[in-house]
Amino acid sequence: MARRAQNCCSFCGRKEGEVRMMITGLHGFICENCVQQASEIIRSNLPDFCDDEPRKSGGNDWDLRSIPKPREIKEYLDQYVIGQDDAKRYLAVAVYNHYKRLAQPKDSSGVEIEKSNVIMVGPTGTGKTLIARSIAKLLNVPFTIVDATVFTEAGYVGEDVESILSRLLQVADFDVEATQRGIVFIDEIDKIARKSDNPSITRDVSGEGVQQGLLKLLEGSMVNVPPKGGRKHPDQDYVHVDTRNILFICGGAFDGIERRIAQRLNTHVVGFDSVQNVSQLDRENLMKYILPQDLKSFGLIPEIIGRLPVLTYLNPLDREALRNILTEPKNSLVKQQIKLFEMDGITLSFENDALEFMVDKAVEYKLGARGLRSIMEAVMMEAQYESPSWDKKEFVVTKEYAKQRLEKANLPVAE
Ligand code: ADP
Repeated sequence: MARRAQNCCSFCGRKEGEVRMMITGLHGFICENCVQQASEIIRSNLPDFCDDEPRKSGGNDWDLRSIPKPREIKEYLDQYVIGQDDAKRYLAVAVYNHYKRLAQPKDSSGVEIEKSNVIMVGPTGTGKTLIARSIAKLLNVPFTIVDATVFTEAGYVGEDVESILSRLLQVADFDVEATQRGIVFIDEIDKIARKSDNPSITRDVSGEGVQQGLLKLLEGSMVNVPPKGGRKHPDQDYVHVDTRNILFICGGAFDGIERRIAQRLNTHVVGFDSVQNVSQLDRENLMKYILPQDLKSFGLIPEIIGRLPVLTYLNPLDREALRNILTEPKNSLVKQQIKLFEMDGITLSFENDALEFMVDKAVEYKLGARGLRSIMEAVMMEAQYESPSWDKKEFVVTKEYAKQRLEKANLPVAE
């Protein structure tokens, strides 16, 4: 009992019962209030020191132990994204390294881990956005998707690149700290390629100029961000956002880049060993041989390519992949439909033939997984309309039903 009486904070004198937490030291105690006060004193007097602390975002400590390992990130992605193993591995490592970078203490060795922004190349609707979105969900960091095509060089009609950060800021509820640890997915980066491989003499307002504008965001700098988005305006208050720790993931279809890859491979394989190399090439999927120089010949400026050091590709989705996408992911289209019907008390099921039929249609319309969604919606629309008023408690989608609904719907398979 006598010992308990001693348990009071050595700084403020409060007793154990008066505080929420008492930390025991060798020769005394400190309560949570005094810890907080001490931390504020350190923060205001030694800002450099605080910079070394594990970073925080949305309540997460950037303690390395709290960051999922690459293998865990990949396993998480496997639940949502079918196939695309290479891309998932690259992304898992890039993200892990990125957050390692945030957790790194400043040491005297002078080794500083550099940023690992990512560029993913692959046909539309193959999972680029899905991968980026899933990673952000796993890490619980602010995430936004922007379309590179809406940007123009500052001063021209269109959006300034800074508006990317306005969006991230909005997603993060204007929490600058959280914003600075977020992930931005820039889609359609290929659409801001310059029109020819040579630097242009005339201005290329929506191509090279935008790439130049993006540079400063990608490499990491303090940017004045108009919090509500829109154009910069002299009267507006800006929020200062440091982009050093924001992870940028870019995606693009880079239509026709295979031709450039093929050209490069053909010129390079001349020489000894060439016959063997050529015969080993997977001509069906040249994308996997993509190198930074192919992006350059497509029209990305070398400075941008240099700031997107992790380059990976996504495969076109074959029939088997599309079939799996219908049923396998954690929130697959079929599972979503079943859930929708379940909420009305109806047990929904799909005959295998019906699913195969939908996949055939998606292959026919060449819209990748996006086509599947439109097809599923078209097939289920009528049932979704009627079923809440049904008495029956079970509904099976057959191939005939799917076929008939698609014909009725005139198949609006567009995005
Ligand atoms: P993009 O490559 O054009 O960014 P998205 O990631 O936006 O394509 O894919 C569109 C939709 O298609 C996703 O929301 C998802 O439902 C589905 N999808 C695409 N690829 C896959 C995949 N590999 N695995 C599972 N679903 C996918």
